[in-house]
Amino acid sequence: MCYNEAMNLLDSAEVLKGIGPRTAEILKKAGIKTVRDFFYNLPRDYDNYEQPISIAEMRPGKVVIRGKIDSLSTKKARKRNLTITEGVIRDSTGAVRVVWFNQNYRTRQFAPEKDYYFMGTYELKFGRFQLTSPSAALATDVEIGGGLTPIYVAHGGLKSHDFRRLITASKDRFAEIPDLLPVKPGVRRESLYKVHFPEIMTDINVARDYLAYEELFELILAAKLNRRENEKLKAEVVRFNASKIREFVAKLPFKLTNAQRLAAWEIFQNMEQGTPMNRLLQGDVGSGKTVVAAMTAYEAVLAGKQVALLAPTAILAEQHFRGISELLSGFGVQTALLTGATKNKAKLKKQIAEQGIDLVIGTHALLTDDTEFKKLGLVIIDEQHRFGVEQRQKLMLKSPTGLAPHLLSMTATPIPRSLQLTIFGDLDISILNELPIGRQPIETKIITEIDSQEKLYPKMQEIMRMAPDKKGRGNKMHGQQIYWICKAIEDGDTVSGATRGAKKDIKVKEGHNGGSEITSVKKRCKQLREIFPKATVEFLHGKMKPADKDAVMERFASGEIDILVSTTVVEVGVDVPNANLMVIENADAYGLAQLHQLRGRVGRGSAKAYCYLLTSGDTQPSRRLRELEKSSDGFHLAEVDLKLRGPGEIYGVLQHGAMDLRIASLSDTKIIAKAQKDVSEFLKNPDNMLKYSELAEIISKYQQITTLN
Ligand code: ADP
Ligand code: MG
Repeated sequence: MCYNEAMNLLDSAEVLKGIGPRTAEILKKAGIKTVRDFFYNLPRDYDNYEQPISIAEMRPGKVVIRGKIDSLSTKKARKRNLTITEGVIRDSTGAVRVVWFNQNYRTRQFAPEKDYYFMGTYELKFGRFQLTSPSAALATDVEIGGGLTPIYVAHGGLKSHDFRRLITASKDRFAEIPDLLPVKPGVRRESLYKVHFPEIMTDINVARDYLAYEELFELILAAKLNRRENEKLKAEVVRFNASKIREFVAKLPFKLTNAQRLAAWEIFQNMEQGTPMNRLLQGDVGSGKTVVAAMTAYEAVLAGKQVALLAPTAILAEQHFRGISELLSGFGVQTALLTGATKNKAKLKKQIAEQGIDLVIGTHALLTDDTEFKKLGLVIIDEQHRFGVEQRQKLMLKSPTGLAPHLLSMTATPIPRSLQLTIFGDLDISILNELPIGRQPIETKIITEIDSQEKLYPKMQEIMRMAPDKKGRGNKMHGQQIYWICKAIEDGDTVSGATRGAKKDIKVKEGHNGGSEITSVKKRCKQLREIFPKATVEFLHGKMKPADKDAVMERFASGEIDILVSTTVVEVGVDVPNANLMVIENADAYGLAQLHQLRGRVGRGSAKAYCYLLTSGDTQPSRRLRELEKSSDGFHLAEVDLKLRGPGEIYGVLQHGAMDLRIASLSDTKIIAKAQKDVSEFLKNPDNMLKYSELAEIISKYQQITTLN
């Protein structure tokens, strides 16, 4: 082994034993390209094969046995899409039937002369005892590891045991892994070795702590370097125009909250600098971010700049266009809407290029290459987590002045403090932690579907009869309005809840709509029409044509529709202050953050608002729902969410680039604090980035996806 010439972890994984072109291709698809990727592809869990028993000793329940396997065969079950693989496991005391479902590869996994460990459930099925769906590992592998066997996530035909085989083939190369950070020499290679070849559980925990630290170090370092880079850029100075802004504020139909004033002040201060602002405006749902955005835009326009405001959907772009045009009307700001549906785009784009338009509000269409600005000074991004970083970067290139535009991102997803310090460490943050006065907390209740008739329908009737906040034009019920959220569009659709906290894909079943089955938007709409014959009930979902969606949204906003049955397309940002009841069907299928967002669609006016979380009632309501019932504080709920779910999922929700936290827990404040301190120390020495070249290279990749300017 050669210690002098340390291995370059950024080489292609193909340099490793056992990884030929075909395997490399599969690995690449799983995001494993380099040697580093391969070593950092950590086990997702461990099987504990310690203390196997003999087959004769087996009792029903979870068991570990050791033996040889034969008579393996796979057959198709009568049920469609199901295959059954069967075999017999023997040891010196007896034999047991083994069964796997939909794991055809098991027929190829075993060599008949070798010993394996099996861990599974021993049970009585169809009158026979069997071992059902056991995990399995080669005895020699298990015994090296003292019984702890890593389980890897399978990728494109490579199963956990294949990964195990591949990593074992590179076992002696761990010694060549160079240090990454200025910490105790060798700790990196030891930690990696121990997570792949553990002997005792405590080893794994210590190793994972180090790897978590390493990961946080990288993130924090990338964020800090981004901030530095950003500070090197030049931006146009936008002077604070006190008299005009005062006039704008005086003409608002309401008084700004202190939080809104403070945020605006922080923003104006930023834009007075010659370096680009990179600020995130965080405000819980309904905290009034739009008016802050409008003021910011106005300020930039007053200074002779153009402004682009990006929204994640056409519905929201239009709503912003309406809302902000209204706020800015009479102030001489030329405003335009540019979405996929906009007619005569060429003419509009020409106007934008000539600065005939001051403020353009739009969706992705704004990012097409031929939209040029004459003097883009400010970009506002609503719900920034819905935008890819590439899209943001594209927009940054649109100012021919060579100066970077100021950037204001807005989000209603409260970001826990630990994330603010790490992933969002390159941003300045303003927080609207105060709701406009007069808002009452939204009364939230968990009820079972069966109770709907008694507890929910009367409430709906009452809401629809209550005096509207605004004019209820053409509304037969002349009252307040209701959102009803369902997951699917039509019967037969498969809805994936996996991304937001639900475990499995749920198939929408035909037939009646009781139980935990998800009732489709259309069907629910029809049913509600029957229950409330006097009400106008319409549906909305993401697969409708944009024009149709807009029409429905328009009618709902004007008060013409009483009940809007919708998928989560209404989730973010939609603002209809006369809607005061939110029903979320199948509430357990959503994550906490999303439920909070959905709930935030109501209670936006001065009237009392309600949110009903419908559950099947088959099981106890989840912790998520109970938390939601108790609290309306988005920041508190975000902290709870972070604790309840993995960081990966929170990260996923925020979609901050393509990064994923492999191992670190963002709720581990101790490790975060240490990493922060060490990064600051690290940056004090300007030579460090040269000295730690692998780290520098890793960071530059992070930076590409986190840089906002
Ligand atoms: P969000 O932060 O969720 O985007 P919006 O900007 O849509 O919130 O504001 C929610 C509602 O509150 C809007 O109808 C807006 O007109 C109103 N609003 C905003 N600021 C205030 C305020 N200071 N006082 C009263 N109402 C306000
Ligand atoms: Mg909003």
